Amino acid sequence: MIAERSDYSSLRKNLLDGNPSVVRLVTDYLQRIKEHTHINAFITVFDDRALQYAHAVDEKLHSGDNPPLAGMIVAVKDNICIRNTRVTCASKMLSEFTSIYDATVVKRLEDAGAIIIGKTNLDEFAMGSSSESSYFGAVRNPHDPEYVPGGSSGGSAAAVAADCAITAIGSDTGGSIRQPASFTGIYGLKPTYGRVSRCGLVAFASSFDQIGPFARSVTDVALLLSVIAGYDPSDSTSSKIAVPDYTERLSKNISKLRIGVPEEYFTSDLDENVRSVIDEQIYRLKDFGAGIKKISLPHTEYTIAAYYILTTAEASSNLARYDGARYTYRAEEISDLNDMYTRSRSEGFGEEVKRRIMLGTFVLSTGYYDAYYRKAQKVRRLIKGDFDKAFSEVDCIVTPTSPTTAFRIGEKVDDPLQMYLTDVYTTSANLAGIPGISIPCGKDRKGMPVGLQLLGKQFDEKTLLNTAFALEQ
Ligand code: GLN
Repeated sequence: MIAERSDYSSLRKNLLDGNPSVVRLVTDYLQRIKEHTHINAFITVFDDRALQYAHAVDEKLHSGDNPPLAGMIVAVKDNICIRNTRVTCASKMLSEFTSIYDATVVKRLEDAGAIIIGKTNLDEFAMGSSSESSYFGAVRNPHDPEYVPGGSSGGSAAAVAADCAITAIGSDTGGSIRQPASFTGIYGLKPTYGRVSRCGLVAFASSFDQIGPFARSVTDVALLLSVIAGYDPSDSTSSKIAVPDYTERLSKNISKLRIGVPEEYFTSDLDENVRSVIDEQIYRLKDFGAGIKKISLPHTEYTIAAYYILTTAEASSNLARYDGARYTYRAEEISDLNDMYTRSRSEGFGEEVKRRIMLGTFVLSTGYYDAYYRKAQKVRRLIKGDFDKAFSEVDCIVTPTSPTTAFRIGEKVDDPLQMYLTDVYTTSANLAGIPGISIPCGKDRKGMPVGLQLLGKQFDEKTLLNTAFALEQ
């Protein structure tokens, strides 16, 4: 049987020796997934496909070819396309939809020898913070099934935390990788906007969305990022900046590092339990020799408002394509074109998605565009400016990932504003386009995991990984 909760980096040597074989490993993981269906982390499990790929990787290993992710068992969020398999976005709207092409990250993962074990559950169209709005039912937190795993990539996080996959891929528009990583006690990285190709990621808010990895060790995060990052001609927003080998010289020596602590992220909204765990980690960073400096990000109080105006605006436009005409859900017995649009969209989308489409359409409409959308764009600029200024004084910034630990299933579903407020510390990175990582760093009184967030300069994932590595040791 596989060593429980071991990461890929420590398993790799055995895999290269053929012990276990990749087929054996995949068989074990498929079994584990069957034993953990109550967590509801997966929408689709790839039994045959995964075993077929495993055979091919075993053959490669026999012939002396050792691709960098050979035999890594990866779960992929179900808003990322894999050819000839369905991609649902956890929506009734796309529940029958099959992709005709592979997302660039999928191609890169499989070329590197990774085995995709299945597609993970999420909040419908990645809109949410708890993974409860899925058409396929809520995901549960492996630490306690009465609690949410966070969202929207809750299935990916839960799959890794329950060891139903070694690593996972998610998407982060306002915290959807970092917050579920924090709620489930694993690592989750949102790369710089443009670092990873979005080709094949179903768009939510195109100027915010970014794909990134979940893992149980910093080395695995670095390994995955090295494989998925880089320019892609199919995504015009992907960057041509060279991709470093993120695993190289991962060093815990952070004695020259200057770390900022933003006062606006440590207010009374922050749960006392979370605060004390984070404070402890800041002392550890100090012990490692890092310079800790108080900083200010003065426009923090406007992040949630700006985020929910801009992302809903982009979503209302991106989701206009789901109209019942071609590949989506179509209502039955329609009378005319208008009836088809109206009823297909009313029946195909869930409540939260409809709420966002309406909000977004409103802020873009004549008369309100200047008052909301344009103003929010200006605020986005100011928030970016706050970070530019901070990064002239410090190398990275430390904050809690979320103001609380995981909450109970059902606790916030009827209160969208409370749900939105769980994103107060994560949305700023997407507004500014900077990278952020959530690092597991302890538990609260109830035994639920606490996550610490590090924010870095654009394209400086390396500093985040080094700092995370120091804390991991
Ligand atoms: N929770 C945030 C939202 O609901 C973030 C979602 C995400 O990052 N995909 O929009």
